[in-house]
Amino acid sequence: MRIAVLREQAEGERRVAATPETAKKFAALGATVAVESGAGTAAGYADSAYAEAGATVADRAAVLAGADIVLGVQGPDPAGLAGVVPGAWLVAGLNPVGDRARIDAYAAAGVEALAMEWMPRITRAQSMDILSSQSNLSGYKAVLDAAAEYGRAFPMMMTAAGTVAAARVFVMGVGVAGLQAIATARRLGAQVSATDVRSATREQIQSLGAKPIFVENVAGIEGEGTGGYAGEMSPEYQAAQAELVSAHIAKQDIVITTALIPGRPAPRLVSDAQLATMRPGSVVVDLAVEQGGNVEGAVAGEVVERHGVKIVGHRNVPSRLAADASALFARNLYNFLSAFWDKDAGRPVLDAEIGDAIRLTRGGKVVNARLTA
Ligand code: NAD
Repeated sequence: MRIAVLREQAEGERRVAATPETAKKFAALGATVAVESGAGTAAGYADSAYAEAGATVADRAAVLAGADIVLGVQGPDPAGLAGVVPGAWLVAGLNPVGDRARIDAYAAAGVEALAMEWMPRITRAQSMDILSSQSNLSGYKAVLDAAAEYGRAFPMMMTAAGTVAAARVFVMGVGVAGLQAIATARRLGAQVSATDVRSATREQIQSLGAKPIFVENVAGIEGEGTGGYAGEMSPEYQAAQAELVSAHIAKQDIVITTALIPGRPAPRLVSDAQLATMRPGSVVVDLAVEQGGNVEGAVAGEVVERHGVKIVGHRNVPSRLAADASALFARNLYNFLSAFWDKDAGRPVLDAEIGDAIRLTRGGKVVNARLTA
C-alpha cells in the first residue's frame, strides 16, 4: 500500500495533507509514504522531517507512480494526475458542488475520489471531520484578524492615564467557527454577544459567558435543518432577525459572521445600511466571504472600508494558520484511513455509511447520490 502526499498547487494554499507525524503513523500501519518535494514547506514541515519519519521525498511523477491512495488538502488539477493507477483513491477536500467539471474529470481519470467535506456528522466520524477542525481555527483567527485591524484594545484597561472600554464583539452564526470566535474574544477580554438561527446554540453561547441575541415568537424559530446544520429561514423570521440585528449592530465594535447553509449561498446578514450605523473604526470579519458572503460589500481576498468600517474578507483562513491547520487536517485523514484499515487486505476498506456519503467517483463514473440525483 503506497500513499502519495501532494504539494498543493492552488494559489494561497499553504497547508499540507500529511505531516511527519501522520507519515510515521501510516508507516506503522504497513504503508509506504511518498511525499512530493516541498509539500510541507509553507506549513513549516521540511522535506527532511518527512524523510526522518520514514517517508520518501520525490518529485510529483515519482510520488504518483504506483500510488494506491493520493492525499491532498484541496483536489489536485485532474491533468496533474496523469500516471495514477486506475482505482487509486484521491482523498481530499474536493469542493464537490463548487466544481462539477473537475469531479467529472476525476471520474474520467479513473480515480476513486473521496470528498472529506462530505463526511457524515456522526459521532464515530468526528475525528475525521475536516470542516470542524478547520472551522475551529478559522473562528480563532477571525478574532485575531479583527483585533489586528481594530485601532483599539479588546480588554477593559484601567490605567493611571484613564480607562479603556472593553470592545463589544458580536458573533453571527454559532457553529464550530462561531463558538471558537466567542471563546477567543472572551479570552481577549471583549464583551461578547452572539446569534444563530438554531435555538440549540442559545445555551452554548451562555455557557461561554456571552450574551445570546435571539429573535423571539416568530414561526419556524428552531432553524435546525438536517445533520445539525441550519435550514433556510422563513421571510418573517428573516425580517425579524434583520430588525433585531440592526438595533444591536449599531452598538458593536467588532462583528464576526460565520453563517453557512449547506448547498446554498451564504445568507446575507449585514447590509450596507447596517454598516453605516456602526462607529467609524469598527471592524467586520466575514468568514463566509468565499461562499457568497454574509456582509454586503465584503470582497474575497481583501480588506475594504465602507462608511469608515473595515470589512475583512480573507480567503482560506485555515491556511493562515498553516502549521496547526495541516496538523489537524492530516490527523483527520489518518483517523479516517486507519479506522477502516483492514490488516489482512493491508489497506482501508470502507463501510457503506461513510463510503457512500463521501465517494464521488468510481469505475469511471460519478456515483454519489448527491451529484447524480
Ligand atoms: P456551518 O458552518 O454550516 O454554519 C455556521 C453557523 O451558521 C451554524 O451554526 C448555522 O446555524 C448558522 N447560520 C446559518 N444561517 C444563519 C442565519 N441566517 N443567521 C445566523 N446564523 C446562521 O455550521 P457548523 O460549524 O458546521 O456547525 C453546525 C452544527 O453541526 C453545530 O451544532 C456543530 O456542533 C455540529 N457538528 C457536529 C459534528 C458531528 O457530530 N460530527 C461535527 C461538526 C459539527
